[in-house]
Amino acid sequence: MSTSSNYGFTTTILHSDRQKEIEHGSPHKPIHTSVTYGYHNARELADVFQGKKPGFRYGRQGNPTVAALEEKISKMEDGVASLCFASGMAAIGAVFQGLLRQGDQIISSRFLFGNTNSVWQTCSEQGIQLALVDATNVAEVEAAITPQTRMVFAETIANPRTQVADLLRIGELCRARGILYVVDNTMTSPYLFRAKEVGAGLVINSLTKSIAGHGNVLGGAITDTGVFDWSAYPHIAANFRKLDRFQQGMAQLRAKALRDFGASLSPEAAHQIAVGAETLALRMERESANALALAQMLESDPRVAVVHYPGLHSHPQHELAKRLFRAFGALLSFELKPEIDCFDFLSHLQLAINATHLGDTRTLVIPVAHTIFFEMGPERRAEMGIVDSLIRVSVGIEDTEDLMADFGRALAQF
Ligand SMILES: *Cc1c(COP(=O)(O)O)cnc(C)c1O
Repeated sequence: MSTSSNYGFTTTILHSDRQKEIEHGSPHKPIHTSVTYGYHNARELADVFQGKKPGFRYGRQGNPTVAALEEKISKMEDGVASLCFASGMAAIGAVFQGLLRQGDQIISSRFLFGNTNSVWQTCSEQGIQLALVDATNVAEVEAAITPQTRMVFAETIANPRTQVADLLRIGELCRARGILYVVDNTMTSPYLFRAKEVGAGLVINSLTKSIAGHGNVLGGAITDTGVFDWSAYPHIAANFRKLDRFQQGMAQLRAKALRDFGASLSPEAAHQIAVGAETLALRMERESANALALAQMLESDPRVAVVHYPGLHSHPQHELAKRLFRAFGALLSFELKPEIDCFDFLSHLQLAINATHLGDTRTLVIPVAHTIFFEMGPERRAEMGIVDSLIRVSVGIEDTEDLMADFGRALAQF
């Protein structure tokens, strides 16, 4: 297949495997289950180990099926290289394991995925300073910078209150100060947003969510956008310093995080994620359209107190979201009027499933304060703007009328 960078998002994803050698003409990259790889002679094997020749060594640090997915993700994010992990959390853990040391400081949005919040607590227990800021306000990020600041970490749309970080201004700040900018793009996915365009050096995606999209496989990825000059990063080990300055970060992450800690993505999972990814754009369009329709319906209902969705004019960062994202995403949250119990309301939904997870084809609902954000306690929940009655909805690809009717019927009980 001739390679053209002019193809659209879906065309590129669908045909990316065919840009390398086509094994038996297979449109899908085959699932290679082998853990080790044999060479014609020991010299060739040694060359592969020393990086003089390309090739795979051992499944923990690389696999052809996973490598094909990594290339697909790099194309999605317009990055130079990607690294896959067994889950999104393994990818976030890798940033910690591979790039941070005692005495460093990280600045992170305080509106965070719950488990990422927990990882940052672990970091601070291990001697890494943590500054949690309101990332919708770049002045708070700037005020938190110290000489020890190693990275600024932000999510695109925060879960569950949907705050939109001031992504572009934070990017400009990081570039001016030479600080690594890490963006978790899970909530928007590379179809709705390319973090490279706001200056992110590393982009994290939980592949489990929208990219795989069907709630049947776990995975995570880090993409290097090629924006960050690693020669300025203090913790690159001597053997990676020899590489091109734009490759040093990924080489260190592959060795120090993926290889040494071993949270590798299986080739079977990589295949399943690659198949799911083919329809990412179609699903995101449909989910975003469904979410907007549902958010508008809920906002106009007298039994609903407030709806949080970046697609609504009432959302504090609506204009920003419109400029940054192709659509407003699949996630919304809302509060019912105080006299309605959120558990009672949820018990009347017939289609939407009471479940955690997001970015699935099926609509999922959850009372967040009592479940996924329970462990962090009332104070941290208050900081994140999470009240006890908040309901999160991950909107699926169901027919719009059916979804609206399901929520309409449940509301009509009160
Ligand atoms: C789900 C999620 C993660 C973690 O991904 P897993 O694949 O579940 O480990 C990280 N960040 C965000 C924003 C998420 O929604």
